[in-house]
Amino acid sequence: MTQQFDIIGDVHGCFRELSDLMDKLGHQWNRSAGLHVPTEGRRIVFVGDIVDRGPEPVVCLAYVKLMVEAGHALCVMGNHDNKFMRWAKGRNVKVSHGLNKTIDQIRAMGADAKVLGKFVEDLPYHLKLDEGRLIVVHGAWCDELETERPDSGKMRSWCLYAPTTGKTLPNGMPDRIDWVSQRQATDSSPWIVYGHQPYKEARIQNRTTGIDTSCVFGGKLTAMRWPEMELVEVPAAQQYDKHPTMEEGAE
Ligand code: MN
Repeated sequence: MTQQFDIIGDVHGCFRELSDLMDKLGHQWNRSAGLHVPTEGRRIVFVGDIVDRGPEPVVCLAYVKLMVEAGHALCVMGNHDNKFMRWAKGRNVKVSHGLNKTIDQIRAMGADAKVLGKFVEDLPYHLKLDEGRLIVVHGAWCDELETERPDSGKMRSWCLYAPTTGKTLPNGMPDRIDWVSQRQATDSSPWIVYGHQPYKEARIQNRTTGIDTSCVFGGKLTAMRWPEMELVEVPAAQQYDKHPTMEEGAE
């Protein structure tokens, strides 16, 4: 039997929009539990980057944790989640790209960073769903990763950050590889749903769908329903962060 999922793009602390999107998808808000109970037969899947940049990163992460622990949702790790986790473990990370917003809210709420960090640490880099027909990943995926160890360097760099040539462009940005355009997909290739790369509209190409539609930058938050392939979107209430002029490297 085909499994049904609602896959949600980069949330980045936009709890209001996340809550609106869950309502629009028809999932039932349970106020006492502080979570949404999905429509019968469906599960929620987050593409990662729950934290940083937006107004309520810790509220969002605590919500996703509740949803996952209740069995209502799955979540893959994003590069921002990974960096927050390393901060929570006391590692020396550069507080940039909106991590300050997450740290500020941890302190304001008196939240337990270690508990949240442990939740993030246990998240997978990718999910293979619906008998391998669907792959959900934050950054990027390619067929060669099938034979990689789950924690190999290549697996980590593709899944968290997406591939670059290793060169830096004159403007300081990493030279990204357009893995979507280069993908050689056949009718039997899995469909890949990913976030990470902020687009204005969902990008559908070569059996992939990019669903980071720049909510935190004033765009919209997008869900893709599987297997219906329907896109469900809510607009951002406002712009919360400036679009990065420099893309994020694998720091
Ligand atoms: Mn992101």
